[in-house]
Amino acid sequence: MGQTARTTKLLLDLSEREQGGANRAKRCYLEETVAVLDAARRFYLDFFLTHPDKLMERVEVISKKTGEVTLALVSADKLLTWAEFQTVATDAHPDPLPEWNFTSTFPDFPNRYRRSVIKDCIGKARGYLTTLSTWQWSGKKKGKPGTPTAANHPTLYAGTYALELDTLDLCKSFVRLKVYTGEQWQWVHYPTRYSRYFEQRRAEPGWEQESPKLILSKHTAALHFLQTKTITAQKVVESKRDPDLVTVAVDLNIKQLAVITVRQHGKIIQTRFVTDHGLDSHRYRHLRRSARKQWQSGKPVKGERSNQQLWHHIRRQNRDVAHKTARVIVEACEQYPGCVLLFERLRVIKQARGSKSRRLNRKQANQLKGKINQLAKEKAYASGVVSVEVNPHGTSQYCGRCGCKGVRFTYQAGQRVAGKGGKLFFCPVCHYECHADFNASCNVHHSFFHEVHWQPRLQKSG
Ligand SMILES: [Zn+2]
Repeated sequence: MGQTARTTKLLLDLSEREQGGANRAKRCYLEETVAVLDAARRFYLDFFLTHPDKLMERVEVISKKTGEVTLALVSADKLLTWAEFQTVATDAHPDPLPEWNFTSTFPDFPNRYRRSVIKDCIGKARGYLTTLSTWQWSGKKKGKPGTPTAANHPTLYAGTYALELDTLDLCKSFVRLKVYTGEQWQWVHYPTRYSRYFEQRRAEPGWEQESPKLILSKHTAALHFLQTKTITAQKVVESKRDPDLVTVAVDLNIKQLAVITVRQHGKIIQTRFVTDHGLDSHRYRHLRRSARKQWQSGKPVKGERSNQQLWHHIRRQNRDVAHKTARVIVEACEQYPGCVLLFERLRVIKQARGSKSRRLNRKQANQLKGKINQLAKEKAYASGVVSVEVNPHGTSQYCGRCGCKGVRFTYQAGQRVAGKGGKLFFCPVCHYECHADFNASCNVHHSFFHEVHWQPRLQKSG
């Protein structure tokens, strides 16, 4: 049993008014809301840090199962009630602590927001006190933990937001948010960039909704919807005993981003090559151009970022390709329920040689490999497939059929030319010939089952 989480973003439409976006004042309300919530957080953070004894108080807790009495930290709910009693004026309790009067400092502050702020602060303040006491206990001079900051993305609990999704007309969907206008709190409608993909993900069975967060950045605003799912998957040790087990092995490369082979009963039953569609050389051309521009304009200025747009483009492309490749891998796994996904443990890559643009490009390619690996694992786990990392020793050098050391080569004018960068693989012992990445992918299965013991190249005897 495990749990996995994902977020789905719903962008608020902040484009120009004529293009259907929210007006300027509404945009300012969002900033005001974040600012006032940060101020409230600052208030409660100070409040809790001046009462550290209450925050770290240990109370007697009676276990429901055994009836034993143990000491435990006071629960967050009890602290919340205590903090509200000390700071908030109500009809039954009209005068809170005079120096900590929240009601007079923040008039008409909505209850829901206040509670979310207090809960947030309890976590922040407790975390700080714990690390502080660990640091004091360690006796080190360096590394004193800094006081926690009040800034955080506001969590929207029920009662502070409402989605109004018009099912008939997807273009006209709004989200209603309780925002601070600078003078008062009021409900405001915001147009959203709602899409059917969002609806599909939101309504997908098995995923549980959590409270969304409002993420406000320089130019955009979005609601991030968190979803969690409970996963039941068999342990790998148990699946390994199953004689009908299907294994899906992935070899990650640069030109062939992923070579996926599916094996059952010792036979490869499906193969899939995922190419990069020229991404590698495309990226290389960009990097070469940026290097030339830099050479023409002189040394880079320290602390100043250059070619931002280009790097943004490269990163976005990498991210997109990584998601798509991971999706293909997971789709291959979903055809065989109960299968195990195999990866090579990623190696520590030596720095590439050659020009600066070539080195940068290799670095990007290796990062892409890591990204595909990570995303495929996450996506596979969400559909109940467990992944295993196997020992990468020798997977690309030895023959997948007989286990002898082979050579890489390419065909040039019908002739075999052996070389390190060759796309094809040839075994001099059993004369097996195939795509080098396919051979590596097959070897990943062998490595998982510990089947083949690699043999050194056989010496030619006279
Ligand atoms: Zn062989």
